[in-house]
Amino acid sequence: MNGSMTQAVRVAQFQDSSDSFCEPIALTAAYVFESAADAAMRFSGASCGNVYSRFTNPTVRAFERRLAVLEGAEDAVAFSSGMAAIAAIAHARLQTGANVVCSRDVFGTTLTAFRSYFAKFGVDVRIVDLTDLAQWYAAIDDRTSLAFLETPSNPLQQVADIRAVASLVHAHGGLLAVDNTMLTPILQKPLLFGADLVVHSAGKYIDGQGRCVAGVVAGPDVLMEEMRAVTRSLGPTLSAMNAWLLLKSLETLELRVEAIAQSTQKLANWLKGRREVGAVYYSGFRSHLQRGLAEHQQRGAGGVVSFEVGDSRESAWAFIDALRLISIATNIGDTRSMVTHPATTTHGRLTAEERSRAGIHESLVRLSVGLESVDDLQADIEQALLSVVEPSRASFTQE
Ligand SMILES: *Cc1c(COP(=O)(O)O)cnc(C)c1O
Repeated sequence: MNGSMTQAVRVAQFQDSSDSFCEPIALTAAYVFESAADAAMRFSGASCGNVYSRFTNPTVRAFERRLAVLEGAEDAVAFSSGMAAIAAIAHARLQTGANVVCSRDVFGTTLTAFRSYFAKFGVDVRIVDLTDLAQWYAAIDDRTSLAFLETPSNPLQQVADIRAVASLVHAHGGLLAVDNTMLTPILQKPLLFGADLVVHSAGKYIDGQGRCVAGVVAGPDVLMEEMRAVTRSLGPTLSAMNAWLLLKSLETLELRVEAIAQSTQKLANWLKGRREVGAVYYSGFRSHLQRGLAEHQQRGAGGVVSFEVGDSRESAWAFIDALRLISIATNIGDTRSMVTHPATTTHGRLTAEERSRAGIHESLVRLSVGLESVDDLQADIEQALLSVVEPSRASFTQE
């Protein structure tokens, strides 16, 4: 079973006594033991087997094993959300006096989590520019337990050198965790480039249908034991119901992600040629500053493209409001395409100065491409661009 499509549908299949072909949803809190001795053995870990669904559950376990195979990891541990997964890494790896080095361009709440909830336990949080190795070099030292990055970044699509950051942090005995939500294992496998842990917000492309919030961490067995200990003691466990949605979603992940990446590349190329559009940010461009790195690490550039419409909040908002097919929603990785205005949503809590430093202009729009026909998406974007950039002409022709 070496083919990734085969693995996605065949790995970690399991059946219950009904012989149902589709994997069952083990909606249970507890498990029944054969004897008192059996219960004691399972509780002590002397024999394997389920004990209580906060620790393990067969449906959750099937999702974890299938995801691990796709990431090329020894194992994986699922969590109730992407943030719970990131918090579990921090709980497992950080201690008072240690530091975490994190790129500035990560999912906003990731920074909040480190700064608000781990800094108060005496963890030093050091923020660096994703692509500036000199800053990583300067920030990482013998007290660095964890380096954390997300590549390509959202919304500006900068690419980090996973191997270089991994070797910097390994030289000091720390670990590198990579948030791979954007590309999924279909387009990027960070463990191949030296990352120790891969984390996903699994409700994005992995579910791919916007139905649930979930997270997962993949990596070597020793680290997964630490992650599982966190779920056991702190309780950020994934539900069996959501695990089942994700288990079945993994079966079509490659088809969906490939289709979305193709549509996005096409739309990005087309957007670049439009005179109504300013800068376009996509890691799949030949002209991308880190093209070599992107081609080396990534098998495709994913489903998010960002671009500037006009030069103000007004022009960006007018464009967003003029879209008819594409929805206004602040999420990524659904079957349906969505746009958002980062400056007033995902990055709205930053100061204007922080935003401008991060390159989040008022005119920036982020598009998460879904599974609609690319021609329909292009037509929708085109009519919205025309209505914004030539409003006087549009109203004139209406009269
Ligand atoms: C959404 C997201 C998260 C947070 O995950 P939740 O499941 O919403 O908790 C983390 N990283 C990235 C890249 C995300 O897009």
